[in-house]
Amino acid sequence: MIQLYIPLGFLGVIYREIKQSLTDLEKMFALLEKEREIADAPGAQPLQLEPGDGHADVRFDHVFFAYDPARPILQDISLHIPAGKTVAVVGPSGSGKSTLARLLFRFYDVQQGEILIAGQNIQNVTQASVRQAIGIVPQDTVLFNDTVEYNIAYGQPGASREQVEAAARAARIHGFISATPKGYDTMVGERGLKLSGGEKQRVAIARTLLKNPPILIFDEATSALDSANERAIQAELQTAARNKTTLVIAHRLSTVVDAHEILVMDAGRILERGTHAQLLVANGRYAAMWALQQSSE
Ligand code: ATP
Repeated sequence: MIQLYIPLGFLGVIYREIKQSLTDLEKMFALLEKEREIADAPGAQPLQLEPGDGHADVRFDHVFFAYDPARPILQDISLHIPAGKTVAVVGPSGSGKSTLARLLFRFYDVQQGEILIAGQNIQNVTQASVRQAIGIVPQDTVLFNDTVEYNIAYGQPGASREQVEAAARAARIHGFISATPKGYDTMVGERGLKLSGGEKQRVAIARTLLKNPPILIFDEATSALDSANERAIQAELQTAARNKTTLVIAHRLSTVVDAHEILVMDAGRILERGTHAQLLVANGRYAAMWALQQSSE
């Protein structure tokens, strides 16, 4: 019995290791697959941005997009995020909000129309330079099976421990990290310390603060954080977004009240647009969503 038990336990460990490696490989292949779809134009130059924030405005000009040609997703989307301002997108699940973010990050190319950063069509400049200019805080941050420090510094390999710590402090995750026995050397991810949704988002915010790009994309978590945590994350996001050109994909209207412009999407089109006050006066879909959310709170 004992003889059987030990090898089985050992096999269990091996099984978990193999499964994990396969998951990592799947992620890698999924990424490689994406990379293959998009290629730099011959002779593409890097995006030209003035140093500092405040110059990188974002424009979608009559954009049409479909993942599968038989099923159009985005139809005639035009939007402008002036440099340093925030534009928020709201709308039902599947209306195309995250697709806007994926196109801006150039995971896919548009089928018609243009996406411009600082007046430059992102299809004509190098993909790497577009991605360097953008920080994403995704809905569900996938952490690497590595240390907290690696995860925060990801994409900025030269970052010092002091810089990593400063970013973690600003994202209000430093206290949590310091309380673990190995601090910034703690392993996280599937094989290490498990972080809650809010903690993972804070790691993503810290990563973005460290990268300090002129453009930010926030894909707000749909899964409900507790409301104290949610308010704290929102405050941290607002700090991160100061002076940055920001696209927020919002699932809670409380996030969008101060946005320069709010776009209400439905089935791949912009149904309404305006500031919070303008949309309430218009008394359309947004006003109805707002009334519903107020009453449920
Ligand atoms: P949610 O609020 O649920 O995140 P969303 O408004 O962000 O939704 P998108 O993720 O942009 O919606 O999806 C828009 C449409 O595109 C959906 O109908 C979805 O099924 C489809 N879609 C999204 N990703 C893909 C993909 N990789 N391949 C094919 N279709 C996709």
